[in-house]
Amino acid sequence: MLLTGIFEVIFSKPLPSEASEEIAKLVEFLNRDYLKRGTRRPEDAATITEYNIESNVIRMQIASGTKVRLDEASLRIKNVLANSLGSRYRIGIRKLTLRDVKIILDTKISISLKLPFIRGVTEVNGKTVIELSELHEDDLKKPIFLRLLQLIEEKEKRAKWGGKAEHWMLLKASDLKIQKPIVIDPNKVLEEIGWMKRMSIGQWLYTPPLTHLLNALKRLFLDEVVKPLGFQEATFPKMYPLEVGLKTGHLKGVINSIVFASLPKSYDLSEFEELIDSMYVLNSVEPEDLQKYLKPSSYFLCFAQCEPFYWFFENEILDNDALPIKWFDMSGPSFRWEAGGIHGIERVIEFHRIEIVWLGKPEQVIEIRNKLLERYEYFMDRVLDLEWRMAWVTPWFYEQSGVVQEEVRSINIDVPGTIDFEAWLPYRGSREDNRNWLEIGNISIHGTKFTEPFRIKHNKGEVLWTGCSGFGSERWLIALLAQKGFNIDEWPKKFLEYVKTSPFPQSIMTVSYPKTREGKELLSKIISKLVW
Ligand code: ATP
Ligand code: ZN
Ligand code: MG
Repeated sequence: MLLTGIFEVIFSKPLPSEASEEIAKLVEFLNRDYLKRGTRRPEDAATITEYNIESNVIRMQIASGTKVRLDEASLRIKNVLANSLGSRYRIGIRKLTLRDVKIILDTKISISLKLPFIRGVTEVNGKTVIELSELHEDDLKKPIFLRLLQLIEEKEKRAKWGGKAEHWMLLKASDLKIQKPIVIDPNKVLEEIGWMKRMSIGQWLYTPPLTHLLNALKRLFLDEVVKPLGFQEATFPKMYPLEVGLKTGHLKGVINSIVFASLPKSYDLSEFEELIDSMYVLNSVEPEDLQKYLKPSSYFLCFAQCEPFYWFFENEILDNDALPIKWFDMSGPSFRWEAGGIHGIERVIEFHRIEIVWLGKPEQVIEIRNKLLERYEYFMDRVLDLEWRMAWVTPWFYEQSGVVQEEVRSINIDVPGTIDFEAWLPYRGSREDNRNWLEIGNISIHGTKFTEPFRIKHNKGEVLWTGCSGFGSERWLIALLAQKGFNIDEWPKKFLEYVKTSPFPQSIMTVSYPKTREGKELLSKIISKLVW
């Protein structure tokens, strides 16, 4: 990336002719030293490539990299000129202008022309040239330039990933445990036997028997993994102000999957009279009509479930005694618009998750992740006896170098990144095909991705990191049922023990429900073994 521009300094009066020698020396000093400070590679720094003096104006052509950027270079030049010329010739700086600014990129990217300061974007020989409008001293002091370059860098990184959200590398896999794969989709069975009913797209009601199974699995996970490691339960809100999503990055990264919430425009019921009348008479409500009574969305619904954790520690200063902090939340659902990908309760709009979160120094955060990893493996392998695998997935925004590690043995997992846990779903097809595996959970360490924007600080200035891990209850249960089926003799002993801690709830069987005769018969068969 190359930045070029013309920096114009207007002085309060014409520069005396003696000044030109002095200015030549200053330019030499700037190019050799001051504009290179803080960079290792010369191409990251700035250089004055040409300049001229005309009465009370100095114009400098500057070229820069991304470390000492054009804006930073301009301010450094201004300081040098003001200090040296100001006192000697009793001359002040009246105006600074950076014009003809061009950002030249080696890749093709598109960028909104509606952004402030962007005048035009052109493409020349595979390079993108972004032209900015004139910038003045106040603009140069704002981080606009920095943020614009961050936006461009992210767009370039995304483009390099080729549209993929993440790169996947196998870390470890269980033995091949399943000899006779079950070919029935447990989602279909659960619906057919009436244990769950779809309310709307990607949203279900779980009746007591299914709730009982989900709860047993969650309790087992808490007892085997979460509590032995000392995590304590907290209760997080499930509707977040937009600013929180701006800081976590979710609004920029996954806005297409977020469900938003709006407040009514008024609390005065009489203001809704027209809408209410129309509902009485027409017995319907049109979303377009409703929208007129609502404020624009100012919240988004729980997406990652760990957002409130970072928000809570915003601007707080932590000392060693307080660290590490280890919490979990299971107080409510998460919401995601999954468009066409919805299937049964594997991929839903409203799902339930135990979200584990931690905060500490890097070595603490890594150690906690490692212990969790060990317990997760034990849980998948021994407790639930699943056929599983885990993979290192690098989301595009963690990739620093742009070079993707392909060799599994060389992966260093003690850096920010994510480990996914996956289970084979035999009903979908062979285990050789990646599409037949389901992500059931994951663990991430984020580095300073959240501690930086939320300014979470250590009292001795040490770096703080965070980590989180999501256990999607529906997905774990589907994985278990897909591999073990509905015959409880095949269920893992420990799980059955938890299912049996209280009487199995009654299944709903009415004249019209479950819907089909096959469903009713299947239900009778399944529950015949579930009564104790
Ligand atoms: P996928 O790649 O399958 O969409 P993801 O990478 O979006 O998963 P994460 O954002 O890592 O998932 O969420 C953490 C966990 O939350 C997942 O491992 C899964 O257990 C659960 N989860 C995520 N999205 C859904 C969904 N739409 N329905 C049910 N569970 C989900
Ligand atoms: Zn999280
Ligand atoms: Mg997803």
